[in-house]
Order: sequence, then C-alpha cells, then structure tokens
Amino acid sequence: MQNAGIAALGLNWRYLAFEVHPDDLRSALEGARRMHFVGINLTVPHKVLAMEMMDLLDESARTWGAVNTVRFEAKNQQGEWRPLREFGETPRDVRLHGFNTDADAITRALRDDLGFDFAGKRILLLGAGGAGRTAALKLASEKVAELFLVNRTSGKSAAVAGEISARHPKVKVILGYPTGKVDLLLNATSLGLKATDSLPFDEAQFSVSRSEAVYDMIYRPAETPLLKLAKGVGCRAANGASMLLYQGASALEIWTGERVPVRAMRQALEEMLGRASS
Ligand code: NAP
Repeated sequence: MQNAGIAALGLNWRYLAFEVHPDDLRSALEGARRMHFVGINLTVPHKVLAMEMMDLLDESARTWGAVNTVRFEAKNQQGEWRPLREFGETPRDVRLHGFNTDADAITRALRDDLGFDFAGKRILLLGAGGAGRTAALKLASEKVAELFLVNRTSGKSAAVAGEISARHPKVKVILGYPTGKVDLLLNATSLGLKATDSLPFDEAQFSVSRSEAVYDMIYRPAETPLLKLAKGVGCRAANGASMLLYQGASALEIWTGERVPVRAMRQALEEMLGRASS
C-alpha cells in the first residue's frame, strides 16, 4: 500500500517492515535517525513506548497517548525544522517528531464506508485495548449521544469510561450492553481474527439485528463471522481495511507534505488482502 503510494508520487523511496523487540525500540529509532530515514510507522506495542522517545510530540500523539507515525526533521538555513525529504545534503542534527493518524482514520472509515455521522448517535463498542480506547475517545469527541462499552476485562472499559467522562462530560457512557436499538456496533476486539473465534459479543445480551450498521476493525479475514451475520440480517457492514488505508495515507502525507494517491494505495491494499485470503 505505501509502496504503491510512493511509486504513484514518483519518489525514490521504499517502505520496509522491520521486526524490533520492544527492548530495542530506542536503539532502532536511533539507528533510523542516523541512517536518515524520512519516516517510520510503529505498531503495537511500540506506539505507547515511543511516546517518551520523541523529540517533539504533535497534538495528535498527545491527545491519543500513542505514536504511530514518526517524521524525521532537520533545520533549514532559516533555522526552521522541516521534513527530511526537503534536504539535498544530509543534515547531522535530526529530530524525531511523533504523530498519531489512527484516531482520524477510524471516523473517516466510518463516514466513507457506512455513510455514518456521529452527533447524537448510540454506539455499542466492543473492546477496550489500544484500538478500542482510541475509538471510544474519538467517538466521544465527535459528540455521539450514548456510548456503550463492553470488554472481557471490565476494569479496562471502566478506565476508558472514566477518561471519557473527564474529557467529554456531555457524552453518556454506559458500561454494558444497551437495551433497544443502536446506530452502530463497532468491534475493536481481536475476536474474529481466527476461524475458531466466537462472536465478539454475548448473544444472550445483544443481537446484531438491533444495530443499523456494523464495523469490524479486523480486515483479515475480510469477512469475519460478525460481518457475515450482520450482512445476513441486512445491516450496513464493513471491515477494517479502510481504517488501515486512511492511517497509512495520512502518514504518507505527513512524510511527503503532498496530497497522496489514496486510490492507488487502496487498490494495492485490496490486492494484497485478496491474495492473503485466497
Ligand atoms: P489489544 O490492545 O491487544 O486489545 C485486544 C482487545 O481484544 C481487548 O479488548 C481484549 O480484551 C479483546 N480480546 C482479545 N482476546 C479476547 C477474547 N478471547 N475474548 C474477548 N475479548 C478478547 O489490540 P488492539 O490493538 O486494540 O486491536 C484490537 C483489534 O483491532 C484487533 O483485531 C486488531 O487487528 C484490530 N485493529 C485494526 C486496525 C485497522 O487498521 N483496521 C488498527 C488497529 C487494530 P481484554 O482487554 O479483556 O484483553
């Protein structure tokens, strides 16, 4: 996906994956700084660990308490910090600027895939891990009316509810399943990744037919048992591919400072996911 975007922009760059042990994250970032990488994406568990390893945190990283995108920057002749891609000569003094593109990707995906708008809506959110917490806080910032939080470890959803009450006091947060209908069921648990997984909610307490729309953050497999069920009862339903796409497109925009070719990136992502599921 990123390499397709890079190629469409005509850049002589490559996007590569490196497996780094969490204990080695600081030295890996230092190595990337010294080797003049233009940028990095980080995934679990590095997103939170990296917070204290940045020279500067963007508002987005501070808001969500996690860094998924790093931009390497240096000072130009006017003394302004600029993205490394703007420099011909390789500067010695390089800083790490941390951003988070995950939260905006969640709402952009829900708008684009499901035509969802947020104000005044009732949402059931399953999961309170990294993605669940970010989704909960982002949805609250979009002024939803009621947010029902369910998680296997109830203490984690209670902690998220506490954060929402402190930051967005107008949003009603309820721990547990709703009665009646909801506008959206959002799965942010890892249940559905494996073929043998059960549904991510308790069928004695909730039924998919009580939701207008269903979004599953999982994108591989493309159709989880939850999505299959949702489509079967006529819900609007989508998987997490668009969320993955948009967090990546925003990262490429941060590194390049250019409008990115989202269509080329989407096509490459769909091809890759199609290959993975065949
Ligand atoms: P995480 O921090 O490890 O959280 C995992 C969540 O799943 C927790 O709420 C956990 O509950 C729950 N869970 C795990 N196994 C369970 C089980 N057997 N029964 C019930 N609940 C279970 O992971 P994450 O980063 O938040 O990711 C969560 C999901 O979102 C994953 O499927 C991931 O692939 C997906 N995701 C997608 C994107 C995207 O771009 N589309 C981005 C990020 C994440 P406990 O708190 O009780 O452990």
